[in-house]
Amino acid sequence: MTMSRETDGMSRRGLLAGVATTGLAGIWYHPEATAWEAERGHDSLRITGLELFPVRLPRNRKWLFLRLVTNQGISGIAEATLGGTDKVSELKTFFGLIDGASPFDIRRYREQGLGLAVTGGRKMAGAFSAIEQALWDLVGKTLNVPVYDLFGGKLRDQIDVYANINNATIDRSPAGFAENAAQAVGEGFLALKAAPFDGFPALDASSDEIERATTTGVDCIGAIRKTAGDDVKLKVDFHSYFDVERTINVAQRIAPFDLSWIEEPIDAQDVVGTSQIQKVIPQRLAGGEFLVGLHQFGPLCRTECVEVLMPDVQICGGLLEGQRIATAAELHGQTVAPHNAHGPVATAASAQLSAVLPNFEILEYQWNEVPWRAELINPPEAIHEGRIHLNDRAGFGVELNEQVVAAHI
Ligand SMILES: [Mg+2]
Repeated sequence: MTMSRETDGMSRRGLLAGVATTGLAGIWYHPEATAWEAERGHDSLRITGLELFPVRLPRNRKWLFLRLVTNQGISGIAEATLGGTDKVSELKTFFGLIDGASPFDIRRYREQGLGLAVTGGRKMAGAFSAIEQALWDLVGKTLNVPVYDLFGGKLRDQIDVYANINNATIDRSPAGFAENAAQAVGEGFLALKAAPFDGFPALDASSDEIERATTTGVDCIGAIRKTAGDDVKLKVDFHSYFDVERTINVAQRIAPFDLSWIEEPIDAQDVVGTSQIQKVIPQRLAGGEFLVGLHQFGPLCRTECVEVLMPDVQICGGLLEGQRIATAAELHGQTVAPHNAHGPVATAASAQLSAVLPNFEILEYQWNEVPWRAELINPPEAIHEGRIHLNDRAGFGVELNEQVVAAHI
């Protein structure tokens, strides 16, 4: 393996250790990279390599960070976390579109790659979106401006976030959800989300089994509401376990708990069913986390079957696509709550996008999965009173803390 530039010995060992334990090929280099070494200036800035940084989480999950490197020592980071998969071959595919290219050609990258991202499945979409993120960070760091300035400047200094307590809730009883809700509210979060119907039986299971699972889920929501108090905004993700009839039944039963949205009770692309649900339930509907590209969001906008669109910068195509989707939503009076069940780099990237959207509502934050999460980046991730305070540093405003990353490969 040839190195195109000097790197810190410890981080290199960490990277290689990661490659050894995960099977990831950690870095690729453009063979002509040295030809650019003597050149300087934006016109001669070229992408020369891609580094991967996997981070292990409990229960076989992982976060996957990446870094694009250039012939001028400037680099851009991103996150490619999606369902714990590595996406190495998919990242190689999209890296091929920018290998040796200028990081400023983001729209050209979109034109060349989005079609494959849309049709190639979630891993392709995740890989495409990750590289798109890194291009924005790289351009911001090259020009020494925050990414929000590349989009015309920020509309807000603080980004409202909600704590998704679902993954951190191992005890799936009402008491288990209530305990984590209390802790998150105690930390200052003003909005929470959970998915207490996870593991719901198939809809052709016995009526007794269905009723038992329904009652447990409803009781969990009630316990969260009781613990969190009336002022906390509470969202419930149904993870598409239901059909139209079951959704309407459950929505009526949880109406007293005053949810700020119900998320994806059925497949997000079933706009006919979602419209039927929307007509009769009292809650707002949210969805779209797995949709890729502006056009997949089109039916949700045109039918206005959800009030809240949830593009994910790690899946939807990246920040530019996220902005385009938000513009379509704006035409239909819909708000945008970026989906972000990921790590701190995705959160930093999502915060930049959230800063510039006029119809931004709230950003997701994956709460309390591991105690060392905040230290994976510099400056460490910080959330106060349920908000991320944007800094004015270049790009996404953060760098990977390679020592902490290496400790959790
Ligand atoms: Mg969801």
